[in-house]
Amino acid sequence: MPRIGNDEISLAYQAAKSVYDGCTEKNRAIASLIENVGMNHASATFYLNAFQKMMEGKQYEKTINGLAANYYLENIRRDYGNEKYQSALSSLYKHICYYEYKSGSNCKTLREVHKKHFIILMQDIDYESFSRNLECSVKTSLEESKNDRINRISKAKDSPKPSEYRVEVTVYDRNPDVIAEVLARANGICEKCNKGAPFTRKSDGSPYLEVHHLIHLANGGDDTVENAVAVCPNCHREYHYG
Ligand SMILES: [Zn+2]
Ligand SMILES: [Zn+2]
Repeated sequence: MPRIGNDEISLAYQAAKSVYDGCTEKNRAIASLIENVGMNHASATFYLNAFQKMMEGKQYEKTINGLAANYYLENIRRDYGNEKYQSALSSLYKHICYYEYKSGSNCKTLREVHKKHFIILMQDIDYESFSRNLECSVKTSLEESKNDRINRISKAKDSPKPSEYRVEVTVYDRNPDVIAEVLARANGICEKCNKGAPFTRKSDGSPYLEVHHLIHLANGGDDTVENAVAVCPNCHREYHYG
């Protein structure tokens, strides 16, 4: 089989994207990668599968090379935005732990790719979105096999300190008056589903609602009462993940 280089990778990405977007059947995409790109059946399957798992934030097992992982991440960011980009990074990290667990070797190149993209993500995402995506990743991990999770954790124990990166980030100095005024307007009732706040704050007994910007600050939205709503945590999640 020919070495998998840039041309093959970009065609594999297009094929995988087209399957994910529902434009091509998986079998047809595999056939076309075999016929037009010269991949064998197994590689074609791995390359499609890795993309699918990246979009879901789940572990993929068969490795794609560092060049391909880098290309996939760059293009997922461009084509689907930061939320999927963060999923894809989480998927890559799971793959690295899985692979290192299985093989006993060190995925140095893939770890470098992961690090590079993690820094790009952190320079571009607001903290609120990042932590919400992380919450979603936790949910995804819970949906996956416990056995896989335990194996990955056992591997991650080899270097138990979390990676620490210095990055320049954009933070928004949100106006507390706007938050207060929106909460006062809502008066304890979610402005989306019109139900009462599901619980009260431990600190002061006030109804727990979260203030969400309709046009996100990261997308140029204004920090104003008009651009904000007070919503229950359920509705807040729906705004972000529909
Ligand atoms: Zn609600
Ligand atoms: Zn929000």
